[in-house]
Amino acid sequence: MKKIPFVTKEQLTKIVKQYPTPFHLYDEKGIRENARALKEAFAWNQGYREYFAVKANANPFLIDIMRDEIGCGCDCSSLTELMLSKAMGVTGEEIMFSSNDTPAEDFKLAAELGAIINLDDITHIEFLENAIGTLPKKMCCRYNPGGVFKISNGIMDNPGDAKYGMTEEQMFEAFRILKSKGVEEFGIHAFLASNTVTNEYYPMLAKQLFELAVKLHREMGVHISFVNLSGGIGIPYRPDQEPNDIKVIGEGVRKVYEEVLVPEGMDDVAIYTELGRYMTGPFGGLVTKVIHEKHTHKEYIGVDACAVNLMRPAMYGAYHHITVMGKEEEAEEYKYDVTGSLCENNDKFAVDRMLPKVEIGDLLFIHDAGAHGYSMGYNYNGRLKSAEILLQQDGSAKLIRRAETPKDYFATLDCFPIYDKLFE
Ligand SMILES: *Cc1c(COP(=O)(O)O)cnc(C)c1O
Repeated sequence: MKKIPFVTKEQLTKIVKQYPTPFHLYDEKGIRENARALKEAFAWNQGYREYFAVKANANPFLIDIMRDEIGCGCDCSSLTELMLSKAMGVTGEEIMFSSNDTPAEDFKLAAELGAIINLDDITHIEFLENAIGTLPKKMCCRYNPGGVFKISNGIMDNPGDAKYGMTEEQMFEAFRILKSKGVEEFGIHAFLASNTVTNEYYPMLAKQLFELAVKLHREMGVHISFVNLSGGIGIPYRPDQEPNDIKVIGEGVRKVYEEVLVPEGMDDVAIYTELGRYMTGPFGGLVTKVIHEKHTHKEYIGVDACAVNLMRPAMYGAYHHITVMGKEEEAEEYKYDVTGSLCENNDKFAVDRMLPKVEIGDLLFIHDAGAHGYSMGYNYNGRLKSAEILLQQDGSAKLIRRAETPKDYFATLDCFPIYDKLFE
């Protein structure tokens, strides 16, 4: 299968005249259609809600698009993500606060906003009480069953090695304590495998969580009002991967819901999701221009973006497909490393990648950068973060975040004399 950018070379050439590369470009139409399909896949569940994982892409314009389309909430895990949600008018139970190793001030703001607080650890009950006083009436606990998470075609991930969540024993103890402290409504949450490209993950996770919900309900006499399946639905970064079918995933969860929860009379349990990657990943691309070619022991293509703009290849050796704009039909006969400018040898968007003949001035579209792309960026080597641009449904481009300037980079020195010298 071929990966085709959501923008044409003609469109991009126009955009580049107004906004210099590199930048992240997002596809409004794609985001809307995908969000709608998610909502429809879970429409069978009365209380269903998606809480978009803000860490995946913290651009308020994009979150607004998803709110407009499906009324999603925000899954936050830090003070600034809570601040952003508040500023967007997302408050109360529209916020899921799924954090870990949480500072007290973060808990305070979450409680002030009326967010649903999802506790990562049993010791956080006392920590939270110390931070905010009385506990909210509705709370969630994060579960970690340990071991490895296996599906039919192999091991998917390793919860036993993950820092998140409570053991089953701790879940029971936490619920007992929370109940004794006046909590009335409960949710359970787990995130056991990341970027799953299989329709089996959510239904398998749901079964585990539903069975735990039944046990907690029976043994503790608590009302489980929601099960939060969290994130983890993946996207096909590689062109040969079969994409998930969200309709099949939704139906798979419905099937186990009817098998496990309904016979227990627990047919009022709402399903929540905290998807990030699935919501915006494929609908963002990093657009960058080729500025150098280098022929040494290997063939290098130097571009004007770097790992500061998209860290996944450098951080995890992640594959991101690359289209050389305008050369889609040409044979991929040349082997390149596509590099950024950081003084760090892992700053490569691709290693030994077969591409058409690349020339200086070519525009590259680096696919699937819409989640954990811009938001994961950093400022190593003093490199600046790029702009974000929205390709709107009518085909026009709109700036939704300006590029950083040196002033932004040096802002934290503005209380010292050297600051003024920087701009003399
Ligand atoms: C990262 C994260 C998500 C989103 O994960 P995706 O893989 O982007 O879907 C959801 N919930 C929590 C608690 C997370 O940490």
